[in-house]
Amino acid sequence: MQPALIIDETANGSQRRIPASPTFSVVAPVYNEELLLPEFCRRMVAVLESIGEPFEIVLVNDGSRDRSPEIMNQLHEQDPRIKVVNFSKNFGHQLAITAGTDYARGQAVIVIDSDLQDPPEVIPDLIQRWREGYQVVYAVRAEREGETWFKKVTAAFFYRLIDRITNVNIPVDTGDFRLMDRKVVDAISGIREHHRFMRGLSVWVGFKQIGVPYKRDARKAGETKYPLRKMLKFAMDGITSFSYLPLQLATYMGFVVAALSLLFLIAVFVLRLAAANPDPTTAAFYGQASTLVTVLFLGSVQLIFLGVIGEYLGRIYDEVKRRPLYIVADALGFEDEKK
Ligand code: UDP
Ligand code: MG
Repeated sequence: MQPALIIDETANGSQRRIPASPTFSVVAPVYNEELLLPEFCRRMVAVLESIGEPFEIVLVNDGSRDRSPEIMNQLHEQDPRIKVVNFSKNFGHQLAITAGTDYARGQAVIVIDSDLQDPPEVIPDLIQRWREGYQVVYAVRAEREGETWFKKVTAAFFYRLIDRITNVNIPVDTGDFRLMDRKVVDAISGIREHHRFMRGLSVWVGFKQIGVPYKRDARKAGETKYPLRKMLKFAMDGITSFSYLPLQLATYMGFVVAALSLLFLIAVFVLRLAAANPDPTTAAFYGQASTLVTVLFLGSVQLIFLGVIGEYLGRIYDEVKRRPLYIVADALGFEDEKK
């Protein structure tokens, strides 16, 4: 058993200079996928062998609690081109992808889910575009099979919202399934922000980009690791990483409420002058009700915006703590590398 190795900003990313030997690296995050791993590797190896160039498959075990680690071990023993990075605990999908791209040495790195929702058979199409000179080739979900209606609607809404409000043009209906050139991978590895929205970062770095449509399959076995809670956090990470709009909304809202208050003031003034002698009980009732509604309304708006500020503040706090993005317990198949 190797001692736990702490990966920090300077130990990898753009700082790591390792000769890139294989042409292709496939990076797949794995969290409790014992049912699918052998099939995933079998299909992946078949596709990559048909291309006929050196490759490696980097499986990142994101703290799985099922038999995935043992299965990954076996797969590595049978085929040393299958390499394994074991996290010390669950750090999340986006950080598993980050670790995989940090360890990958290929000239082109392909990020793909390990649950076979992204068919490995699409990879030759991505490679074709890369050979034409594109440096980021992202796969666009033209069709989605076997997803719940709720997931499809929320995903469609989210991709369109993020396209609207952020200042990077993240293509609609793309996930993390994509091919990135070595230059792009190095650029992204150099970015060490914590709440990573990888599909946004890979657009933000620039370079020549293109989409390839594909049909996203249903999950073959197991269940989604993205319950609603994680989906919401993921959405917030995406929005806060690339947009200040939620913060600016407070300003716009302030102007609107100020304008309405002014109108209200004028109305009260006019009514006061016009009304001869209002019945004192009715006047008191309306006065009370309007005060209460105004106070509650403004109070809740302020609480909401405090929460929005909190979302950004918490993320700033996570950055200033400068903790490592992930901790690797051990890695198999990278022995030839000098870190
Ligand atoms: N995954 C991971 N860590 C997590 C959650 C998910 O590495 O904390 C992996 C998972 O094994 C899969 C990919 O990320 O390969 C996508 O997850 P999932 O299929 O559950 O998401 P969905 O496709 O339902 O959005
Ligand atoms: Mg999936």
